[in-house]
Amino acid sequence: MSNSERNENKRVTIALDRTGISSSFQGMLEQPEKWPRGQAWTLMHAHDAGQIARIWCGHCNIKRFYKPAELREVIGNVTIDEVRANARCQACGKKDYMRAELFHAYGQELVTIRFRRLKEIRWEKRVIWRDE
Ligand SMILES: [Zn+2]
Repeated sequence: MSNSERNENKRVTIALDRTGISSSFQGMLEQPEKWPRGQAWTLMHAHDAGQIARIWCGHCNIKRFYKPAELREVIGNVTIDEVRANARCQACGKKDYMRAELFHAYGQELVTIRFRRLKEIRWEKRVIWRDE
């Protein structure tokens, strides 16, 4: 009985993997093992290492892939934790369910990833009045 339960659990895990929570990032190191402790692994490091940024909303299950160098252009050379802290879901407008991770993609996975690319950064003119 306990054996079949364990098998059941295993199947669930694999099913989850297939629905997008890709198995590749579960065992994947976010940073090189030799990276000194305490040193921030920034988007620039991630770019140099060929990593991909995955940001998703656990509430809507909407997942997007970004190039770390482009995220860096938008919010600066920060860590992926800071990216997450700044992320907001476009669909539900919430920040609470946002997740962000860096990972490496290989082979078939790399081919199938569709990136959300940075099109432009628009600087808008804002006029602020002050009454004296
Ligand atoms: Zn959402």
